[in-house]
Amino acid sequence: MEAEKIDCAVIGAGVVGLAVARALALAGREVMVLEGEGGIGTGTSSRNSEVIHAGIYYPKGSLKAQLCVQGKQALYDYAGQRGVAHRRCGKLIVATSAEQVGELEGIVAKARANGVDDLVILTRGQAQAMEPHLQCVAAIHSPSTGIVDSHALMLSLQGDLENAGGMVALKSPVARAECANGAIDLFMADGTVLRCASVVNAAGLHAPLLARRFQGLDPQQLPTAYFAKGNYFTLSGRAPFSRLVYPVPEPGGLGVHLTLDLGGQAKFGPDVQWVESPGDLVVDPARGDAFYAEVRKYWPQLPDGALLPGYAGMRPKISGPGEPAADFMIQGPEAHRVPGLVNLFGIESPGLTSSLAIGARVAQMLA
Ligand SMILES: Cc1cc2nc3c(=O)[nH]c(=O)nc-3n(C[C@H](O)[C@H](O)[C@H](O)COP(=O)(O)OP(=O)(O)OC[C@H]3O[C@@H](n4cnc5c(N)ncnc54)[C@H](O)[C@@H]3O)c2cc1C
Repeated sequence: MEAEKIDCAVIGAGVVGLAVARALALAGREVMVLEGEGGIGTGTSSRNSEVIHAGIYYPKGSLKAQLCVQGKQALYDYAGQRGVAHRRCGKLIVATSAEQVGELEGIVAKARANGVDDLVILTRGQAQAMEPHLQCVAAIHSPSTGIVDSHALMLSLQGDLENAGGMVALKSPVARAECANGAIDLFMADGTVLRCASVVNAAGLHAPLLARRFQGLDPQQLPTAYFAKGNYFTLSGRAPFSRLVYPVPEPGGLGVHLTLDLGGQAKFGPDVQWVESPGDLVVDPARGDAFYAEVRKYWPQLPDGALLPGYAGMRPKISGPGEPAADFMIQGPEAHRVPGLVNLFGIESPGLTSSLAIGARVAQMLA
């Protein structure tokens, strides 16, 4: 079959793929987003906490640290300009035992190294003045943490892309690719072939597996995909908190925390459950037992029976259980030697916060 020629293809219409596509289109490129499902944002981008992270926890100089801090500012500016619903509600990170108090200093120092210098350590009394139902020994207040309507954000990014001449093709799964002679041929599941000057693999959970089906890419360069499910339980009834509440972080995740949506509904989670398959998104009600114990460390009055199984999201990990958390991997031609190709691997949290910054970075790499 004769290949149809296009300039840039972005594989995946999650928040990251859409932000990349928008940035490329605004830079004057002709862009087509190829999405396997029947709508935008049906993957991890609609199964997360919708938190605009401040950039506190990530190692200094890491892509997560840089892109979260840049992305946070860009996201607040963008959401403000475009009327994307969001709220700079702030968050408290709580030490619930004397041993944890020492960890708070370390968290503040880590944040400062990332350029986040607005954290304040609070005494128990100061924290309880802000959130009277909170039990803690001490806490950190992060005023720049917030929440955003991720669907409204994605719709807005799609609108910008389309206004700049780009398009989203739904129900268009990419099956494999051949990279040769300075072009990348994408073989679509329906048999169509697209000859592209540039391709961005933003397939989220499936990005490492898809890259293994790119002939011309050295498989040695590709990370192994691991999947860490995050289960949420929703609170029936009104939440007594107006800020997000996080325990000190645990390995693999941020601990069972309380987040709020823009309607004020509270949910707890996500926990960390390593699984074999990215498709396993059912919440086992039995996991709720562990949630009660964790949440009562900072909210002892949580009523019995108040937690209902909510939803689950899947972290697209590229480091396995027990290994140090991997950084985002934005893999361009200098790493894999295929001109015009950028692979996005391991774009877990804070990927939503970082999306606009990742978009800008990838557009620059392909300029
Ligand atoms: C439990 C959880 C909580 C999180 N909380 C936060 C948070 O509060 N704040 C934050 O900043 N980040 C958070 N994140 C991270 C954030 O959700 C992700 O980084 C972000 O959504 C990733 O977007 P994406 O576009 O890379 O991937 P996705 O949203 O997964 O999009 C990938 C798209 O690619 C498509 N696709 C896959 N294969 C193909 C193919 N072969 N052909 C065509 N299309 C294909 C899929 O259908 C999908 O639509 C959280 C993540 C999880 C799992």
